Amino acid sequence: MKGVDRLTASTPAPLRVALWLASQGYAVHPLAPGLKVPVRGCDRCSPGTAERPNPAYVEHDGRACACHADGRPCHGVLAATTDADRIAAWWARTPAAGVGVAAGPSGLVILDVDCHGGDVPTAPERLLPGVELPANIAPGSVLDGRDVLALLVEARRATLPGCAPETLTVRTPSGGVHYWFRAPAGTRWRPQAGALGWQLDVRAGSSYAVAPGTVTRSGTYTVLGDCRMVAELPVWLARDLDRTGHRVRPERPRVTLPWRSRSMGSGYVAAAVEAELRAVAEAQPGTRNDALNRAAFSLGTLCGAGRLDGAQVADVLADAARHAGLPEREAAAAIRSGLVAGERHPRTLAGAAA
Ligand SMILES: [Zn+2]
Ligand SMILES: [Zn+2]
Repeated sequence: MKGVDRLTASTPAPLRVALWLASQGYAVHPLAPGLKVPVRGCDRCSPGTAERPNPAYVEHDGRACACHADGRPCHGVLAATTDADRIAAWWARTPAAGVGVAAGPSGLVILDVDCHGGDVPTAPERLLPGVELPANIAPGSVLDGRDVLALLVEARRATLPGCAPETLTVRTPSGGVHYWFRAPAGTRWRPQAGALGWQLDVRAGSSYAVAPGTVTRSGTYTVLGDCRMVAELPVWLARDLDRTGHRVRPERPRVTLPWRSRSMGSGYVAAAVEAELRAVAEAQPGTRNDALNRAAFSLGTLCGAGRLDGAQVADVLADAARHAGLPEREAAAAIRSGLVAGERHPRTLAGAAA
């Protein structure tokens, strides 16, 4: 049965919310009734607290825990699922459990705007690191995260939901605001607190947000406005989140070069060969041909200056192109034309330690 088909008039509110979210593709997990922390897992999986450690706890990697396969909600966000049967079973056991939404597995980036007062930083650099702010910010006009966000929106000449585009916006019991966004296709993000700006946190990756409708001892999470859709992360905000270290970029392994460029020239020339070969070997599909042609031209200028042997250069470039996955014939043509053009512009090595 699909999750939403299960809903009846008597379905308790938290389960209703959990099933609706799951039907939209959001992975959910139960929160301890009245709290905003995940329900306690089984004994083996719960370390307890510093004051009251759990003697039955067995240290292990929650990501690979067998409890997930057994359907237990251990390890909080790591247990999150869109499986309606599992969700129904969890909330049958704890009907008053709140709903957590795992950000990363749900493809969400949630901007968490805090509103808990505190000492406002006086240095603009601490309000919004790396953003040029107007010099005339009136004293007392910045009180919490909402004001800091307003400054960022103004600095970017942008708008935020509430204006356009609209997106699901949730008010937290402490008066904070969560803007829910879809991560653009193919992008991954990490959570951070305060990296974007003072009282501006980001829920993404392995962190979670409390779903609207969840009741805690300090109040209820409620939807602001009428919008129930989640918009894609605005481009301007994605840029600022990328700039402040929230974007996860796949680490490209350094390619082990299969040739010995040290035997070709020395010092400056050897370094140039090494750099050009690496640029070709590590080029991404779509840019490989260009990279190869550029490398051939660049090394061709050294051949023209008599510092390298053209035939030898053509050989190692062909190796690098093969490494990058370029078709041989196509590579040979790019190498030939690049070398010929480069040789016509011999590189002057004055000032370079040849
Ligand atoms: Zn467990
Ligand atoms: Zn476990």
